[in-house]
Amino acid sequence: MFDKLVIANRGEIALRILRACRELGVRTVAVHSEADRDAKYVRLADESVCIGPAAAAESYLNVPAVIAAAEVTDASAIHPGYGFLAENADFAERVERSGFIFVGPRPETIRLMGDKVSAIRTMRAAGVPCVPGSDGPLDDDSDRSLRIAEKIGYPVIIKAAGGGGGKGMRIVHTEAALLNAIVLTRAEAQAAFDNDVVYMEKFLERPRHIEFQVLADEHGDAIHLGDRDCSMQRRHQKVVEEAPAPGITDAQRRELGERCAAACREIGYRGAGTFEFLYQDERFFFIEMNTRIQVEHPVTELVTGVDLVKQQLSIAAGYPLGLTQADIKLTGSAMECRINAEDPDTFMPSPGRITQYHQPGGPGVRVDSHIYSGYVVPPHYDSMIAKLITYGGSRDEAIARMRNALMEMVLEGIRTNIPLHQKIMNDPDFRRADFSIDHLEQRFTA
Ligand code: ADP
Repeated sequence: MFDKLVIANRGEIALRILRACRELGVRTVAVHSEADRDAKYVRLADESVCIGPAAAAESYLNVPAVIAAAEVTDASAIHPGYGFLAENADFAERVERSGFIFVGPRPETIRLMGDKVSAIRTMRAAGVPCVPGSDGPLDDDSDRSLRIAEKIGYPVIIKAAGGGGGKGMRIVHTEAALLNAIVLTRAEAQAAFDNDVVYMEKFLERPRHIEFQVLADEHGDAIHLGDRDCSMQRRHQKVVEEAPAPGITDAQRRELGERCAAACREIGYRGAGTFEFLYQDERFFFIEMNTRIQVEHPVTELVTGVDLVKQQLSIAAGYPLGLTQADIKLTGSAMECRINAEDPDTFMPSPGRITQYHQPGGPGVRVDSHIYSGYVVPPHYDSMIAKLITYGGSRDEAIARMRNALMEMVLEGIRTNIPLHQKIMNDPDFRRADFSIDHLEQRFTA
């Protein structure tokens, strides 16, 4: 195992990585912006380096500053967490060229999967089921675009190859609107992602979002750790996640999970990753792959007993996977609520000082968070301040524990979306697992 690692992130995931390093005897370097100087994980880290002002573009996204921090502290590896530089292939390449270990896939893999057109092509070739679509970029040939849409059937969705964060997508219901929508999405994609490549997919009207967790080592071995349901979304951003996905049979899980693991072996994948699917009419359709640890990884940890962050570190250090597919057994059910500093009705961010904080506890309750009483939530970053995660022998027990935990959690001084989570946990459709990706917006944000 390497002896010192730079945590190139902030917030709860910085603390999560720090805890894994502590267990493994790896010393840590927290890099932070001026706004995060007093953060708990900065104090807990063995060393810390301020890499710039509050604005993420000048600190957490500042590649030379992150690499310089690794150099001056004589670290040997860099963990990017999620968001920021986690899926930036150029960053991964710079890290490796500078002689450090990047905790994640090879830069070429990040690049391949970061372009959704090449990701879909690769997965289709590996036998992973994809959404019917253009199977490649749309060009300037209007007749060709019209023919493709006609063949797959309206409604269709135009998506940016370089898109992310739920942006760069446009739904088209009629032939008359198609060509204009392609032009508009292309222009938006160019402005937002500096890449004007767009493609077309069938727009699925009532799907669920179900994803598969994988782990692969650099010696060609790969396994899957089952699925998660992340259908509770607002503006294509996940709000509640759970594992396993309710209603999916063991046979379905085994078949698709093994196909994902086989695809990893085929492309020489390394590290932790997630295959995202839409699920409708008992069929799965691949939409994209995330080449990093995800926010919702704890629900998989609770049902499998596998520590995914420690696995990432050991894979990055070059060890073979210490697990076989037969070692992975899903037991019980886990639920995660993303606690955001935001108004529960208007969703406006609510940064500021937390005057009172009491963390919930009891059987099956896990809180991944860097906050404390007196902590000031800075206005510069994502509004997620905690992940409340519960485990139960059954889905009902996980929900009952979540309702308790939400009730016990005291967070004063700022507004949070705890009331929204309470409504979701009491929603009969949610409790019956009868929902699709538009459920939350239709029911709670009208
Ligand atoms: P991003 O990289 O921006 O997260 P994704 O391709 O993962 O983009 O899509 C994000 C979300 O957009 C999905 O979880 C789903 O809610 C919706 N979406 C994407 N593609 C489709 C589709 N073909 N039909 C219906 N909804 C879709």
